[in-house]
Amino acid sequence: MDHDDATPTTGPAGTSTPLGPPLVELEGVNKHFGDLHVLRDIDLTVRKGEVLVVIGPSGSGKSTLCRAINRLETIDEGEIRIDGKPLPEEGKALAKLRADVGMVFQAFNLFAHRTVLDNVTLGPRKVRRAGKKEAEAEALQLLDRVGVRNQASKLPAQLSGGQQQRVAIARSLAMHPKVMLFDEPTSALDPEMINEVLDAMVALAKEGMTMVVVTHEMGFARKAADRVVFMADGQIVEEATPEEFFTAPKSERAKDFLSKIL
Ligand code: ADP
Ligand code: MG
Repeated sequence: MDHDDATPTTGPAGTSTPLGPPLVELEGVNKHFGDLHVLRDIDLTVRKGEVLVVIGPSGSGKSTLCRAINRLETIDEGEIRIDGKPLPEEGKALAKLRADVGMVFQAFNLFAHRTVLDNVTLGPRKVRRAGKKEAEAEALQLLDRVGVRNQASKLPAQLSGGQQQRVAIARSLAMHPKVMLFDEPTSALDPEMINEVLDAMVALAKEGMTMVVVTHEMGFARKAADRVVFMADGQIVEEATPEEFFTAPKSERAKDFLSKIL
């Protein structure tokens, strides 16, 4: 790959999305669970259009970080802003935030007794007050985009794990999020289904979606990430381009971690 034309404002992995203003900002974020200090002085900015991959050992705080950005966890200290605004505490503003910040988890979390189409339209109809026709038309487009349109009338259990996870992505997208968080979206999948989900995520990245992705999938990081953040013990230990990080990690912690997963 030719990196000579890479500029600081363009994804080195070739997503070629010019990065915009800060969209997600964390400043001095600290979080404890009892005696456990799970997020330590986290400063992090994700710019519009950027794809940030977060990697690190189990227990390093990656999920807590994602959950804090979506305010599924509160923080003890510091500030988190989305599009310049501090996270709301409750009420309508919080519902709006949850729409702005889409999240896809390891477990697919689809409503088991609703069809795929219903799973994708429920949020827009409730939160955005979208009409049934309009919501269904958009849902079908989104399902098409992630390659599962022909599953629309089925129940989640009738789909493979990879298909369910792609439905979960479509469901988040239906809320028109400003940023998408992915917390190990492929780690519960059988190996042969991992790529179909990663491919949908790469396509989303190429379309310019701002993404924070917790994953150990280096193929994805190399293809789609603008930046890699390595976390250990609740701290950001290292920040680099995927190329730099995977070929020449600087910290001992990162070297040790990579020697175990590579
Ligand atoms: P990661 O996603 O990197 O594996 P997590 O953010 O899930 O890490 O967890 C960070 C640390 O916080 C771990 O030690 C975990 O056991 C602990 N932890 C996570 N959630 C809770 C909770 N609700 N209560 C107590 N401890 C928690
Ligand atoms: Mg986790």
